[in-house]
Amino acid sequence: MKDFGIYIHIPFCRQKCFYCDFPSFAGKEKMIEPYLEALEQELGQVRRRLSEAGEAVFGSDGKLAPQTLYIGGGTPTVLETVALPDVFYLLQKHIDVENIGEITIEANPGTVDGEKLRLLRQFGISRLSLGVQSFDDGCLRAMGRIHSGQEALAAVAEAQAAGFGNISVDLMYGLPGQDMKILQESVETALALGVQHISIYGLQLEAGTAFDKMQQQGRLILPSDELTEKMYDYITAVLPERGYQRYEISNFALPGRESRHNLSYWQDVPYLGFGSGAHSYWGDCRYQNPARIEVYMEEIFQGRAMCHIEERLTEKAHMEEFCFLALRTSAGISVRRFAAVFGRDVHEVYGETVSRLVQLGLLAEDGERICLSQSGMKYGNQVFAEFLLPDA
Ligand code: SF4
Repeated sequence: MKDFGIYIHIPFCRQKCFYCDFPSFAGKEKMIEPYLEALEQELGQVRRRLSEAGEAVFGSDGKLAPQTLYIGGGTPTVLETVALPDVFYLLQKHIDVENIGEITIEANPGTVDGEKLRLLRQFGISRLSLGVQSFDDGCLRAMGRIHSGQEALAAVAEAQAAGFGNISVDLMYGLPGQDMKILQESVETALALGVQHISIYGLQLEAGTAFDKMQQQGRLILPSDELTEKMYDYITAVLPERGYQRYEISNFALPGRESRHNLSYWQDVPYLGFGSGAHSYWGDCRYQNPARIEVYMEEIFQGRAMCHIEERLTEKAHMEEFCFLALRTSAGISVRRFAAVFGRDVHEVYGETVSRLVQLGLLAEDGERICLSQSGMKYGNQVFAEFLLPDA
């Protein structure tokens, strides 16, 4: 049986956050029903295609049998309690959900209550990823989030009461109005709640977002670079001190609570993405569905699932990506796995680069693995650029 993951994209949100450039849309609730119909058809089309290709991806009942399933967005929990079962049924129709080791759903604290969370547990969702971002109301308002800090606290408590024993909280730093004290309070609150996993992201200004526009108009006031760097240093020191291992640049978990699904992205494991804007990595190709919901649905209703090849990976591109992605994790590049995938020793390809970066203190190597050092984690993008290979 092939190792692979499945990602399901639910592109609806109640309101667009000011920093967000994900393929997500507010005010399109009328499209939920036909969208779910398109998702169902896409799953069926891909399932048939993989069956015809003789792929070893099916369980004994002929359904897709991934190791992990991730329902993301958008805001999957924007769907009402009456609509969520439709999602579950369409997934159950095509995916062997009973035997999946990890099923994650993303949730916005402003869209969940006890009833909805219990329903998610009943369906077998084992992991809840809550987009909290901050517990400070001023920061939340400044980002256009729909929930308060109190609602985020309540969402975690209700999730725990509903039986979720694997909860992840997303937090952000470098936010408008955020100072060190506000950040520390949010981190301490997340720690006090006893969640199993914390993801931390620095604010990025993305083109076309409300924040981008505000910045062009001189209306966005952000913490200084110096303060933002101090925030990063604080987070990356305090979480490991409190037992959360940094297993990826932005992700910290209690032992054994790493996101298996996200780890597989960094470990070169294939995945199938369903829904508007979803990516797939299968064979030597990367695919991307149209981001606009209307275009996605039109294509699927014409039977054109998995038709958009974004990139056909050459060996060079595959090696580069293999290294960038593996280096994001604390496990780093496995020398043995590199040799198994490419039939070459990693030192034959990257020997000079690795020695130079080890000397600069950005990489560490122990014969079996090549990893980012502590300071390499901070300057990850510069290190990754060194793994680009010259054109043949
Ligand atoms: S809830 Fe998430 S996906 Fe939706 S707009 Fe906000 S950041 Fe984007």
